[in-house]
Amino acid sequence: MIFNQEAVDPAPCRLCGATTFQFCLNAPDFDTGQASFTLCECRSCGLVRIEPLLTEAELSRFYPSVYYGAGQEKFVGPIERLTRWLARQQAHRLLQSLNEGRQPVGPIRILDIGCGRGSLLRAFAQMGGECHGVERADFPDIEPDAGFVLHRQPLADLAFPDGHFDIVVLWHVLEHLADPGTVLTEIHRLLRPGGLLACAVPNFSSWQRRWFGPDWFHLDLPRHVHHFELPTLRHGLEERGFQIVKVETRALDQNLFGFVQSALNRLRRSRPNRLYALLRRPEGFSLDSELAGWLLAAGILSPLAGIEYMLSGLTNQGATVVMQARRC
Ligand SMILES: [Zn+2]
Repeated sequence: MIFNQEAVDPAPCRLCGATTFQFCLNAPDFDTGQASFTLCECRSCGLVRIEPLLTEAELSRFYPSVYYGAGQEKFVGPIERLTRWLARQQAHRLLQSLNEGRQPVGPIRILDIGCGRGSLLRAFAQMGGECHGVERADFPDIEPDAGFVLHRQPLADLAFPDGHFDIVVLWHVLEHLADPGTVLTEIHRLLRPGGLLACAVPNFSSWQRRWFGPDWFHLDLPRHVHHFELPTLRHGLEERGFQIVKVETRALDQNLFGFVQSALNRLRRSRPNRLYALLRRPEGFSLDSELAGWLLAAGILSPLAGIEYMLSGLTNQGATVVMQARRC
């Protein structure tokens, strides 16, 4: 099915409410490269979105169970262990930011929206936190002793009181949401004064996006409905009563692989995101000749990815916007 249309839907921007947009680019879908989508940019706030917007039913077709990973693991063994280690490091950093380096007084409450299999919540649970996760209604079951409560319903339907949480996490989630502005407003209500929002999104104004265009790995169409530049996200948060306390565009786990896979996409457009697909296949790790070929190419590209990672981060043009904001 082709979703590409020339007409611009007048539906208001889901961050600022403006109704004028300009064409940005056409790009293929992530999984097959066979469908094409049009991205348009809000002339007022710079938020980029798929145009026309897809319905929930249309989007759900792009979230097969394999998207979340088979069983409890999404990737092959060594990468899975690295993911858990990174989650523990992230939990420690968020706690330090929340308390500005001091030890927390009493257990804290954490809400992870779009928590996936809950790597970060498991890390927080091991520290004694009260942990809640939110996921799509069709998300696979988690094991009963995961250490957190999984809610499979829209955030607006959860009856948490005002100021209930110390930390809310939106880690590579905002770009998936049909209405990111409303969700940010609800998060402001859910956080206690001084509470911390930690969010990360692909950086649409990054060097990688400018260089690779429709081949950029982190476009992830059509699952990424919205696309953020750093000033767009900053302004959207400040308008809703957040104070930005930390901004960076370096994310080791996202940016290096994003460069490599984007370059591979550019070199071989008939097999988009093939290395990523092979690394996360549910039957497990199998070093066949195809995977070996892709890994060899990735190895050759890795030094370039490292250089891009270092230099782009110096001017906040790395591939990921990582932002911490305190609720005023
Ligand atoms: Zn806007």
